[in-house]
Amino acid sequence: MEAILKQVKDPELLSQIEKVVPFHGFLTSGALIGIQMLNIARRVLNVQDGERIYVTSETQSCMPDPFQILAGATIGNGGLKIRSLGKMAVTINKQAPEGVHSMKGVRIILDPEKTKDYPKLHAWYLNTQKFHHEEIAPILLAAGEKVYSWKLVDIEVPVRKKKRIQGCKNCGEMFIQHDDELLCGACTE
Ligand SMILES: [Zn+2]
Repeated sequence: MEAILKQVKDPELLSQIEKVVPFHGFLTSGALIGIQMLNIARRVLNVQDGERIYVTSETQSCMPDPFQILAGATIGNGGLKIRSLGKMAVTINKQAPEGVHSMKGVRIILDPEKTKDYPKLHAWYLNTQKFHHEEIAPILLAAGEKVYSWKLVDIEVPVRKKKRIQGCKNCGEMFIQHDDELLCGACTE
């Protein structure tokens, strides 16, 4: 870990890593990828300090944490959504101005066409060989943004509906009704 931190020349990136490590537990490759993706998105979307972003992570492991700790996009505040698709990909957009229903966001992937140039990283990505995180992190740091691809995508901004609370007709517990359903999610599973 110390050796990895020594390799980080950019003080901003170093401070990001130092914040993520205690939150996440340790520096995993996925957490580092999340940091790098966040930094790409901030630049591409011209995100200012303190500006809210909305993140959809296509994997639930490791990658979502940097967005929570560094960008304040959390599960609880609606800034972070997880789609467990098992993909090293995120889509990020800024807060839409009032009345705007569609805007541009950026979808960033760890690109296998590009990780090919880094055989160990590529083998880790495709899980054809096992590595310790300490072996992969330095490669990611050295490669920087060279292993990612991104493109602008259209984001539908959800229309905020009035929250309706319904008592479940089966278990009696209160739940947030999305349509006209009479049973809570647990009772319809
Ligand atoms: Zn119920």
